[in-house]
Amino acid sequence: PPAFRCADLAKIYRTGETEVHALRGVDLVIPAGEILVLLGPSGSGKSTLLNILGGLDRPTSGNLFYRDLDLAAMDDAELTRFRRANVGFIFQFYNLIPSLTAEENVRLVTDIAEKPMGAADALALVGLANRRNHYPAQLSGGEQQRVAVARAIAKQPGVLLCDEPTGALDSSTGVQVLETLAEANRTLGSTVVIITHNVGIAAMAHRVFHFLDGRIARVEVNEAPIDPA
Ligand code: ADP
Ligand code: ADP
Repeated sequence: PPAFRCADLAKIYRTGETEVHALRGVDLVIPAGEILVLLGPSGSGKSTLLNILGGLDRPTSGNLFYRDLDLAAMDDAELTRFRRANVGFIFQFYNLIPSLTAEENVRLVTDIAEKPMGAADALALVGLANRRNHYPAQLSGGEQQRVAVARAIAKQPGVLLCDEPTGALDSSTGVQVLETLAEANRTLGSTVVIITHNVGIAAMAHRVFHFLDGRIARVEVNEAPIDPA
């Protein structure tokens, strides 16, 4: 089965009297093992969709499956289990714990995962074997984000969900982070979904979903994705 499929997915945020229609009938299929990019203006629903795919939030209506799992039917405890077993998250700001070394930050995940690789192996995969005993403050922004990638891939997740992963980095360090995501896609087979404002990043994707006003306005299929390195 595909990694994700959803049909007529809607999300309405209600605060007091006001309603925001963040997703308005999204149909999509995300094939397993691909790299997907979500592009579109601010407020068009990209983060809302990513959070719903990752089980951090739930749709107001519509169908949503991860492989054969019916995410729309899950309660909170089941969604938490789904996330732990299947999803790695990477955000714009690295969310590392400052009092722990790089390796200890990664081990927080490997200690509770079902089929983790070693924390040292995950750091080696992102090119940081020689930084494993450094604290976040001793690392550059790009290195901190690579530690965050190591933490996300250490549990060998079926899917990596990335919200503006290079948004806080200059373009050359951003490319190094993207290369680690491409490497996780190649070596672990993880499906990778990336939100970005950077049109250049779309060149590495198998498919680009263009968002507009809570809908997918266009899907671009890229026959020959370019390696970011
Ligand atoms: P092709 O077989 O022509 O290479 P696809 O079968 O991938 O292309 O796509 C056919 C049509 O389905 C396209 O017009 C595209 O808009 C739409 N499409 C492709 N991928 C998706 C997707 N993941 N979710 C929703 N629609 C898609
Ligand atoms: P994007 O990621 O494309 O910038 P979002 O998914 O963050 O878009 O937001 C889509 C719409 O939903 C926006 O109008 C935004 O203001 C609104 N929105 C997002 N999160 C919330 C929330 N927790 N409560 C209320 N409205 C929200």
